[in-house]
Amino acid sequence: MAAAMKIKKGDTVQVLSGKDRGKQGRVIEARPSEGRVIVENLNLVKRHRKPAPVRDTSRMGGAQMTPGGIFEKPSPLDVSNVMLVCPTCKQASRTAVHVKEIKGTTVRVRCCKRCNEEIDR
Ligand SMILES: [Zn+2]
Repeated sequence: MAAAMKIKKGDTVQVLSGKDRGKQGRVIEARPSEGRVIVENLNLVKRHRKPAPVRDTSRMGGAQMTPGGIFEKPSPLDVSNVMLVCPTCKQASRTAVHVKEIKGTTVRVRCCKRCNEEIDR
């Protein structure tokens, strides 16, 4: 069963497990099909890259090198390992979904179970 993700791009979440446990960050990418999110500056993975010559078929100039170094990029976290941080009470909170009717349209709104404030507006 693919449940709809409760976490969306732009949300602030707290990491529940792994080396970044307890840290908070902003979701920069949500991947509902994978059930994963990418959180800014969290779950960083170091990528080492050696300087490498660029193959140049034009025979112009000397060998060009791509820069080497260590690059850090955030890798996806499973949504089950993060918890939404309520923008009102600033705590990692469980969410409830309230169904409201606005002008005859049914709208689903995420609410914080701690303070009952709506998270979406
Ligand atoms: Zn709250």
